[in-house]
Amino acid sequence: MLGCGALGSVAAEILARAGVGTLTLIDRDTVEWSNLQRQALYTEADAEAGRAKADAACEHLKTINSSITYHAHAVDVTAENIAELLRDADFVVDGSDNFGIRFLLNDYSLERSLPWVHGGCLGATGQVALFSGMGQPCFRCLVPAPPDAASVETCETAGVVGAATHSIASLEAMEAIRHLTMPEKPAAPPPVLSLDFWNHRVRQIKIPRSRCPACSDGHRDFLYGDLAAAADRSAVLCGRNAVQVQGENRNKLDLVHMAERWQTLGAVDQNAFFVRLHLPDQYSVTLFRDGRAIITGTEDLSAARSLYARYVGG
Ligand SMILES: [Zn+2]
Repeated sequence: MLGCGALGSVAAEILARAGVGTLTLIDRDTVEWSNLQRQALYTEADAEAGRAKADAACEHLKTINSSITYHAHAVDVTAENIAELLRDADFVVDGSDNFGIRFLLNDYSLERSLPWVHGGCLGATGQVALFSGMGQPCFRCLVPAPPDAASVETCETAGVVGAATHSIASLEAMEAIRHLTMPEKPAAPPPVLSLDFWNHRVRQIKIPRSRCPACSDGHRDFLYGDLAAAADRSAVLCGRNAVQVQGENRNKLDLVHMAERWQTLGAVDQNAFFVRLHLPDQYSVTLFRDGRAIITGTEDLSAARSLYARYVGG
């Protein structure tokens, strides 16, 4: 489950109840109050505590079906760690909220012939597309290049209806179940399903067969190329009054040591996934094992970077 938000958390619950053998839950973020409108796996207590979504999802799913194996990773998926995170996966469900990760996943899926289902939702509309990882069509045939961030509406700017995200998540889980249980692969790739739940419109879109840099020409620009190396994971987290900062040190950080260092600076929360410092002013710093931090209280990237340098270092 690549992303455990509106799509991933719901699809994960369906798959856990269906009894898939192993579920790997990957999400970089923490539970926010505004998530509860659609992310049915989480509770007010999770939002109050600001728990890592991967951690909270894993705990709740264990109470739903304790007989399957779970792995939880509170990390940002990058070109450096995707192979390790998805090494044992038979199928990937896209529960992500950004194009960068989908292009990276597309490259990785073609490299490994790993099938995945793409899901996206906005307002009361959504789409679902299955990709075999074995050539045409791939996600890059559908979306040739990542759109300019400023031109894309997001769930934060356009809003999203929880009933729509549940429907799309359910269709994604359906594709996963079909793929994992069906011994014979369909001869032709299924069309992209585009749904407008508000206006009761359903469209099937056939992805045009044309020359594609990824699946025709074998380029893996987002996995090995310049686009992978240049990807700066620091980003303003839309509508959250928060910024993600990726430090230089991506080795496993000693969070216990960091918590001790922070004791005199403010209130400190700590668990297996992160350590969080509540500063006396409006800021808080949530530091994950992979050296990544979410700084809340600002949407200014440079202010967040300087807070990171001051309290984490590097
Ligand atoms: Zn393609």
